[in-house]
Amino acid sequence: MRINHEQLTAFATAIFASAGTEEVRARKVAHHLVMANLKGHDSHGVGMIPAYVGNIKNGNLNIAADAAVLRDQGAVMLFDGQFGFGQLVGSQATELAIARARETGVVCAGVRNCHHLGRIGSYGEQCGEAGLVSIHFVNVVGHAPLVSPFGGRERRMTTNPFCCTVPRADDIPIVLDMATSAVAQGKVRVAHMKGEQVPAGSLIDHQGQPTTDPGVMFNEPLGALGPFGMHKGYGMAVMCELLGGALAGEWTAQPDNERGVQIVNHMFMVIFDPAAFGGLDRFNSEVTAMVDYLHSTEPALGVDKVRIPGEPEREALAERSAAGIDIDDNSWAGLLKAAAAAGMDDAAISAAAGGA
Ligand code: NAD
Repeated sequence: MRINHEQLTAFATAIFASAGTEEVRARKVAHHLVMANLKGHDSHGVGMIPAYVGNIKNGNLNIAADAAVLRDQGAVMLFDGQFGFGQLVGSQATELAIARARETGVVCAGVRNCHHLGRIGSYGEQCGEAGLVSIHFVNVVGHAPLVSPFGGRERRMTTNPFCCTVPRADDIPIVLDMATSAVAQGKVRVAHMKGEQVPAGSLIDHQGQPTTDPGVMFNEPLGALGPFGMHKGYGMAVMCELLGGALAGEWTAQPDNERGVQIVNHMFMVIFDPAAFGGLDRFNSEVTAMVDYLHSTEPALGVDKVRIPGEPEREALAERSAAGIDIDDNSWAGLLKAAAAAGMDDAAISAAAGGA
């Protein structure tokens, strides 16, 4: 089915509010999730709501928590998300780090113990829209690992996302925002449910051999997701684990730490003002000239044009804002079930879902 983003935001807000979340907070979380759908990342959109409602119910998600300052030492800041909605505690910590970066020129900030932060690009955009450069290393803990190290055949990490944002004087920021696994776990689940194969190079079986069968992620003997870009992507995943996890979160995926049904992100960010380096005019003109140069590349056969990071999201936003968001039947059924679990009755569900 296809649904308008405002209607979907209202429905998602109603679900979180019914689960006890203050309305204004519920709306912010809903907005973040629907923006992920609008920007083309359905794996991090409203399809996460059933897991969030489950974690509210089992006490793994604290709906009232805000980011608490644990350490405040000039250019070094550390926050505790206290297992609150990542969308709230992540953006609160980023906002405070942005304010500090304006004073100090640069900030290294950690935010630990966030329930799922969602689309990391949203925090990059927050920095970029403030005219600042940002780099984000994130790990994922609280449940069993999914991703194998390069050359391995067992799972050791999760999809550890990395993000880097460069602001532009006269356009939206350039945002590289990516999982360090070859493909998102959400996309593997969808392929499995549809009986489809995943792209070659995404998965390995239990012997470490490449496979396109998504069933290896769900049926014994289990395989694993591979890192993107072979040893290089694996290396980035390790850095996300060590900086996001060991440094900011003090909680990596190693097995002495807790593994249950939580979805916990720890994020390490470096945020800085390009003006602090002096040549802001030159920086801006070089960024513009380089982007123009990249755009001028003759496209490969079968490709319409060369893009820069962040442009696919901009295109998806324009297209989906106008045409609506496609939600597959399973995800919609999951949302209706989550709404009921959150405490909405049939009449409220059908009113909030707009009879969709
Ligand atoms: P992706 O592969 O769709 O895109 C990755 C990056 O490549 C984006 O910056 C995109 O703009 C860019 N890109 C894509 N196609 C391009 C092209 N043709 N030309 C130029 N640039 C292009 O993203 P992904 O790796 O599937 O990640 C999806 C989302 O999942 C991200 O928002 C990420 O933050 C999120 N994520 C979150 C967690 C978490 O634990 N919170 C974990 C993993 C991923």
